[in-house]
Amino acid sequence: MGDRAPPTLQQLSRESLLKEEALAISAVVAGLPRLMLPAMFFEGAFRNNQTNILRAMVPAWPFTCLPVGALMKTPHLETLKALLDGLDVLMTEEACPGVGKLRVLALTDVDSGFWSIWTGTYEKDCCHQDTRPKKPVEKCPYSGVKNYLSLVTDLKLVNSQLGECAMYLWRWAQQRKGSVHLCCRKLEVLESYYLSDAMDILRSVDLRCIRELKVRTLWIEDMVPFGPYLGQMRNLHTLVLERFMNTFRIGEAEELEKDVMNTLFSQLPKLHCLQHLYVDDIYVLVGSVAQWLGCLKKPLETLSITFCHLIQRDLDYLPQCLNLSGLKHLCLSQTILEEGLEPLGKLLERVKDTLQTLDLEKCWLEDSAFSAFVPALSQCSQLLRINFFSNKLSLPLLRRLLHHTAKLHKLTEELYPVPLECYDDRGLVFRETFDEICSELLDILRCERQPKAVRFVSTICPKCYQCFVYGLDSGHHCLCGP
Ligand SMILES: [Zn+2]
Ligand SMILES: [Zn+2]
Repeated sequence: MGDRAPPTLQQLSRESLLKEEALAISAVVAGLPRLMLPAMFFEGAFRNNQTNILRAMVPAWPFTCLPVGALMKTPHLETLKALLDGLDVLMTEEACPGVGKLRVLALTDVDSGFWSIWTGTYEKDCCHQDTRPKKPVEKCPYSGVKNYLSLVTDLKLVNSQLGECAMYLWRWAQQRKGSVHLCCRKLEVLESYYLSDAMDILRSVDLRCIRELKVRTLWIEDMVPFGPYLGQMRNLHTLVLERFMNTFRIGEAEELEKDVMNTLFSQLPKLHCLQHLYVDDIYVLVGSVAQWLGCLKKPLETLSITFCHLIQRDLDYLPQCLNLSGLKHLCLSQTILEEGLEPLGKLLERVKDTLQTLDLEKCWLEDSAFSAFVPALSQCSQLLRINFFSNKLSLPLLRRLLHHTAKLHKLTEELYPVPLECYDDRGLVFRETFDEICSELLDILRCERQPKAVRFVSTICPKCYQCFVYGLDSGHHCLCGP
């Protein structure tokens, strides 16, 4: 508290203005200095929730973009209404050129740097934990010349419905179609058992604007009507498909599933920008990885296949797939991988100069499976993060593995399973053996390099449901074991 700087003159004048709402509004309308507006907007709108002042500030906003999403982490209907009312004033004031400059209202969490520059207090007040720099909002090429304003937003359909705020925004934009471009950058369709109810919304959005699509828990039959919408998302760079369900009767399943999947495969080649593919708990992937990946038109940066089942045919295809040649992130966590993992070794050799993360958590692989790709692993010199937690490896295999990963000097995070020798036949961990063995294993890495974050983690204790953890400077034991 002692070294807190005294308030500046500008800060004091802002504070006193904000106390007098009518005065503040007339000052905004009369034209406050440009420098004062962002800080006043930030304090008035988001600290004190003064929606009347906010409404008055929108038409007077001196910049082309108002990145309000960085401030409004959870949508707030009254604030949104005030902003949109302000936009209405701005659009009717078009006759007075030079007054309002605003063209983009960004409701997504982008460009937080704007607020840091203009207010100085943003980081502190917003408890901003995500320190990645947020890019400024780019102008959407599909906003059209006629459209006066762009509303950049993410949309989430849960059970085919939009939330209260998104629904208000969507209706508002629909009523002003001629002058407003609703620019949806990320679309989530979750638990939408009756997708047909959401078609109005899907039809009204310009699908070319969507960069990220997540579809979770959809009847697999719905992929047929949904397919053509997917195909129009030409600028999609991230596709997340989670859990398809089916209502097919035994006997008709195979034929119908084939139709559904053909619809999907016919759309994937249209996604020219796709770089990140996440497939989770999709049972129809079994045996058809070649079709999924082969029809893509651009090499992937991320391939994540989790909670699935890959048979030998699928694994054999991986090193042959041209679309995986520049892979940066590979995740096969919780996926059942059939025994022969030589193809995974071949894939690692192919991507040795690009691969940054490798995740094989909870694959329950044994020594023989791991041996097939361990030598290739040491060639992946760009690896930053590996996760082999919950695999059934012996001490000799883990020693071998660590001699290989010890050569990977860029690793910043490493997660290994505890060797089988540490467990008794009830699955409880021998405490002393655990400490001795983990310390010995850690030394293998230390002989070669200074590890940054390493953890050896046991499976969950069947009695207390906790794990044993051995790290560089921390650890955890449960007290159930021998
Ligand atoms: Zn757009
Ligand atoms: Zn325990």
